[in-house]
Amino acid sequence: MLDRARQLQPKLVEIRRHIHAHPELGFREVQTSQYVSNQLNALHVEHQRGVARTGIVATLGDGSGPVVALRADMDALPIEEANDFGYESQPPGVMQGCGHEGHTAMLLGAAGLLAQEGLHGTVKLIFQPSEEGGSEDTSGGFLMVKEGVLDDVEAIWGIHVGSGEPSGKIFVGDGAINAAADSFYGSVIGMGGHGAFPHRALDAVWLTSFVLPAIYGIVPRRIDPTRQAVISVGTISAGTATNILPPKVDLSGTIRSFEPEVRQQLHDELERAFALAREMGGDYTLRHVWGYPPNVNNTEAATFIRTVAADLLGPEQVERKGLSMAGEDFAYMAQKARGGFINIGAAIGDKPRPHHNPVFDIDESILCIGSAVLAETVKRYLSEQ
Ligand SMILES: [Zn+2]
Ligand SMILES: [Zn+2]
Repeated sequence: MLDRARQLQPKLVEIRRHIHAHPELGFREVQTSQYVSNQLNALHVEHQRGVARTGIVATLGDGSGPVVALRADMDALPIEEANDFGYESQPPGVMQGCGHEGHTAMLLGAAGLLAQEGLHGTVKLIFQPSEEGGSEDTSGGFLMVKEGVLDDVEAIWGIHVGSGEPSGKIFVGDGAINAAADSFYGSVIGMGGHGAFPHRALDAVWLTSFVLPAIYGIVPRRIDPTRQAVISVGTISAGTATNILPPKVDLSGTIRSFEPEVRQQLHDELERAFALAREMGGDYTLRHVWGYPPNVNNTEAATFIRTVAADLLGPEQVERKGLSMAGEDFAYMAQKARGGFINIGAAIGDKPRPHHNPVFDIDESILCIGSAVLAETVKRYLSEQ
């Protein structure tokens, strides 16, 4: 499988670079979807378009059970790319800055490999839109599940590149691997006035100076230290001039956790932190946006792909993945079928190329490895049934 995948490598690079140069945001993957469809047509792989709006579900095998699935995401991010490697993003302000074009290329590679196999059973290849959405109503993964794509699927595997991990290494975790990723949007409200007469106003910046440390105290002082959680304030804005006290300060941030009780507690404590403004004569508003649930690997599905990867690449190339505070909407699929989500290292030397950064990039040589691991996993799973 690995040898056959290596022969596909130039094609996978071509696919990755084409999608990289033509990125599209979530639920707007129109050209990307057309391109994927063209590639599947060239392989004579049956597929349905317009699933979860701009997604595609391809089907391989003899149509019998069991049904298993592989998943890739296709969407880009609102980032202005700073790379200059000849296939950088063409539209301004949009970039494949998380490696999803690599996932799509790997899944098309798996399609090419599996199309030549006489599979007994069915493999669904899910090309989903909008992974970066962040909540149920903006998640392509959630919509795929809602439209019933996973209803007959008993196990599903997915892969994510890691630009900070050693190239070609496979990381497989057991249990929870990605955090629940929620957001909050709050305002601390005072009363505006002249900067020279603070006693005649209620300075919202001053009120916020009590709310902020209360927020930062939640994780170290209110959450059980043996549990994982993080709250980060990402935006803060107020004011128009040096001598004007603003009437309110707007804050927003992210809330990450793994367990439902901790998740609920973080939201409750946040409410109490903002309520300090009320104690001091001001007021507040706070909106909680519940994002993706934690992404939890099924032990059986994780063990299966770990074994396949070790057989293909050697056990020294496979490591256990620890917890990541990043969110991932594969979580919805893993709630519906036995899920095995893995990471593949794709660092280029030791130059940092962080995800969601204008200079993000991956080592393309891993594309064929990803294709081989995905294809071999479902092939072996079906042959063992
Ligand atoms: Zn991302
Ligand atoms: Zn991603």
